[in-house]
Amino acid sequence: MTTGLRDTVFGGAYKDGNLLFVTRYGTLPPICVRCANPVAKPFHKKYSWHPFFIYIFFPVKFLLPKGDKLYEFTTRSASEELELEVYICPKHRANEVLIALAQMSIYGIGLFVFIYYRWAGLLLILASNVGASVLPPRLRPTFIDESHGTFKGAGAAFLDQLTTKPPGVIINTLGLR
Ligand SMILES: [Zn+2]
Repeated sequence: MTTGLRDTVFGGAYKDGNLLFVTRYGTLPPICVRCANPVAKPFHKKYSWHPFFIYIFFPVKFLLPKGDKLYEFTTRSASEELELEVYICPKHRANEVLIALAQMSIYGIGLFVFIYYRWAGLLLILASNVGASVLPPRLRPTFIDESHGTFKGAGAAFLDQLTTKPPGVIINTLGLR
């Protein structure tokens, strides 16, 4: 669901309060998103975001026949994706990996518990999803549409290197940030 219009603003990354605001096709400066130290090589990341209500459909995945397909369809049709080259220093990269591992472990335990105690397992799996979105140090989208994305988790040192987003540059289709 992209407009096909390339962003003409060079860079396209702005500071918006404590959020990182990136226009679609925008690029980040080659410094760590946490501590602003120079970083040589970026990681290619694909972020997807969907409205929170989608979590209501999560139990459908397990409780209905073909629930898997239905859940995937619902999530896909309501999701927006944004690809970004993210610069992150080795130290903060290690933090990200640890958090990802913790999330995967809780998810794994949830699946195991699910075999014996259905609802307890579902709760753990859901907790691993929600938990990862609450933890601060990870760059994570708070909104994505066809024009831009906003991200939480960028360091103050990093955000200070960006210019503040000029008001009214982007027309926000949903009236959200
Ligand atoms: Zn760093």
